[in-house]
Amino acid sequence: MSEPTGPLRQWDRELVWHAFTQMAEYEPLIFVEGRGATLVDDTGRELLDGVSSLWCNVHGHRHPRLDAAIREQLDRVAHVTMLGASTPSTIELAHRLSELTPDGLRHTFFSSDGSAAIEVGLKLAFQYWQQRPDPRPEKTKYIALGGAYHGDTLGSVSVGGVARFHEMFRPLLFEVERLDCPDAWRLPPAVEPDQAAAFYLAELESLLAREHPRIAAMVMEPLIQCAAGMVKHPPGYLAGVRELTRRYDVLLIADEVATGFGRTGRMFACEHEQVAPDLLCLGKGLTGGYLPMAATVATDEIWNAFLGEYHESRHFFHGHTYSGNALSAAVALATLEVFEEERTLERIQPRIEQLGSRLEELRYARGVGDVRQLGLIGAIELCVDVAGKIPFPWTERRGQRVCDYARSKGVFLRPLGSVIVVMPPLCITESELDRILDAVAEGIEYAVG
Ligand SMILES: *Cc1c(COP(=O)(O)O)cnc(C)c1O
Repeated sequence: MSEPTGPLRQWDRELVWHAFTQMAEYEPLIFVEGRGATLVDDTGRELLDGVSSLWCNVHGHRHPRLDAAIREQLDRVAHVTMLGASTPSTIELAHRLSELTPDGLRHTFFSSDGSAAIEVGLKLAFQYWQQRPDPRPEKTKYIALGGAYHGDTLGSVSVGGVARFHEMFRPLLFEVERLDCPDAWRLPPAVEPDQAAAFYLAELESLLAREHPRIAAMVMEPLIQCAAGMVKHPPGYLAGVRELTRRYDVLLIADEVATGFGRTGRMFACEHEQVAPDLLCLGKGLTGGYLPMAATVATDEIWNAFLGEYHESRHFFHGHTYSGNALSAAVALATLEVFEEERTLERIQPRIEQLGSRLEELRYARGVGDVRQLGLIGAIELCVDVAGKIPFPWTERRGQRVCDYARSKGVFLRPLGSVIVVMPPLCITESELDRILDAVAEGIEYAVG
């Protein structure tokens, strides 16, 4: 297509209700094709996918191995129910996940979106305490972090802590024990960076000491809180949380929906601190960014609490129609195979270094308060007062202005308020990554310089 044709633009504006988008001002952006890290819109214009189609694309668009895996599965069957039945690709995927995920995680409950993977994690944790051999029915509450984002369903919103997204729904939500966001950059007054982990862990410990008999689980994004604005935790925080939750008999639910599948430079973020959670939530990159699928992986300890005689009704009364979808499972398996065949985790190391040095060049640019990186996650926070670490008011849409500029240079980005996010597919090449950061650098000069 060389011209936007027919009524698509009008329908897209009037009939399609876009996520996290003010529809009164929405300008259609219609992608008709993709290849590698490049997307093509309906006018034939090419844009580099600098946000991995919202943090989920891994090996690029139209990867031949992934395309073929879906076609092969399609020639067998597209979908069968997981309610009392299965399909080979789904079984294989569960097996592969049990090998790849941190120690002790063995049993996979499939769902369709990251939010659902969190709901499943929360419900499994709750039910586990109700019916384990030595039940603790008073353990019904959760600990979550300030700024947390775990999805948009009501359970995941309850544990979420992004005021602008979540406050409106407060009357519908259950209460949680909320800790301050363990932000490694915006530290409380008088806390030095090398004391930060200990400081935040002391807050957790005092909460646990008081409340642990009533706490079922703590849920957190390990190492980096993505939707909060790519906020990094101090090194050692995750390992400390694991130790404390274990000591106080509280389950740890790790939300690796965004950080899983190579994004941080390792297969899972928990590996950076040798942590094995009790429940691991996966989504986004699980299918390489191709099809909806999410997973909650549990330990034997949790699994065993759900076993029993049929009439005891100890099973997990939860399921989604498309859970474990065969096409999704096939492309997820192929995604994991490509990690090996292309040695993806090795190959991205130079790109991670490149991203790091390009971000460092921007650290002292005008209007830049902080640059942050973990693996192939890059973030630049724009501040109206750099010394005071005060971001531009979100109403000024500075981040969006940078991204609008980048788009004019052929780079597709989506900011988080005044935080510019650079999150390319893991297949990004050296020159493509440079083009993205060139556009970002110029965009920052244009929007805040
Ligand atoms: C995106 C995201 C979710 C929600 O996943 P959906 O597939 O959008 O429902 C949950 N947790 C984290 C950390 C995420 O980034």
